[in-house]
Amino acid sequence: MQHSIDSERYGPQGEAMAHQVKTCVHCGFCLPVCPTYKDLGQEMDSPRGRILLMKEMLEGSLNIEEGLPYVDKCLGCMACVTACPSGVEYGELLTPFRALARDRVKGTLLDRLTRLSFRLLLPFPRRFRAAAVLGRLARPFTGMLPERMASMLELLPRKLPVSPPLPSVYPAQGKRRARVALLSGCVQQVLAPAINWATLRVLARNGVEVMVPGGQGCCGALALHNGDDAQAKHLAARNFDALPGDVDAIITNAAGCGSGIKEYPLLFRGDGLEDKARRFSARVQDVSVFLDELGFGQEPPPLPAAMTVAYHDACHLAHAQGIRTAPRKLLDRIPNLTLMELMDGETCCGSAGTYNLEQPEIANRLGDNKAAVIERLQPDAVAAGNVGCLMQIESHLRRRGSMLPVLHTVELLDRAYESA
Ligand code: SF4
Ligand code: SF4
Repeated sequence: MQHSIDSERYGPQGEAMAHQVKTCVHCGFCLPVCPTYKDLGQEMDSPRGRILLMKEMLEGSLNIEEGLPYVDKCLGCMACVTACPSGVEYGELLTPFRALARDRVKGTLLDRLTRLSFRLLLPFPRRFRAAAVLGRLARPFTGMLPERMASMLELLPRKLPVSPPLPSVYPAQGKRRARVALLSGCVQQVLAPAINWATLRVLARNGVEVMVPGGQGCCGALALHNGDDAQAKHLAARNFDALPGDVDAIITNAAGCGSGIKEYPLLFRGDGLEDKARRFSARVQDVSVFLDELGFGQEPPPLPAAMTVAYHDACHLAHAQGIRTAPRKLLDRIPNLTLMELMDGETCCGSAGTYNLEQPEIANRLGDNKAAVIERLQPDAVAAGNVGCLMQIESHLRRRGSMLPVLHTVELLDRAYESA
């Protein structure tokens, strides 16, 4: 593919984008794994097609309004990165491109309102909780709302969980083997606060003291993937100062946060905070990787009854961070638990950050496909390492009438420990 992107024109990230375009050899190995290509069947909805479209838009030979809808349909699932033999880091093209496009294309009024609501609500748990409470009241009227808004409401749990605030320090049980800081997240605190509590208990059982520093907030991953670099940088920088440097690791239990933080060096490229971003990013670990590397200080006791669990690979763990074995190894160590593999385990469930709110038609088809594959396997529960996937899968299982429990990996470990 010829390339003549004027990388200087696009600032420090222009070079990264031009490099990724150049690395694509147009082989098409990524097409069969791309969920939107499989769903829509058009070259322009494939990774290879989107790379070409972004190249043309960056060069100015294609009008941005014409090409952008195809890029907007990309889930950012990074299945194409796993499949690519040429080493295209597709995210290094997609993320900066989205930021550029966002500055140039304002979109419809509904697009702007949706983006504004993401910006004002999602990173702030109190505001998001208030909006979620109001949203639940509006549920009986979903049929009268635009599909995008109806999808937002359908994803909300029937009952918003209530949970006590997290302590600033959760002590290790027995001899302290490590000390970490927990990134407590934003949306997850409202929709699934049990995940953070399970993380505290499981780490403590294994000799880990967990700090939950006040002053921290959203990691900015949702803003980053929506092309809102300014908000992403602002939120990230707040965490650089709020999370301590003298801990063994900064722990996240949300794949989306972990993968967003791994993109900080790209986000801050050419910025005065680039080094700080790189150091911070290197210290962040998914809870499954941290626990697997540390090793159990206390073996999980057997579950009270035999249980089969289908493990779903969250894209932002498997494709974006290459984390596949650690969660499986941990679950495999729970006596009485049998792990089952999904036929399409590494295919996106349609959650993908805020994708299920922005592209509800495609997201609903992917969510329904995932729920159907799970139902065929007939497990006793589903596990994943990302709150977005848990919500999406649960919502689609419920639409099909299935009440299967959908749990985070640490919640299953916690169940085993608590059952003893
Ligand atoms: S990130 Fe996912 S949806 Fe986007 S092009 Fe790659 S495989 Fe397709
Ligand atoms: S597999 Fe990689 S090199 Fe081949 S078309 Fe896809 S992105 Fe380009």
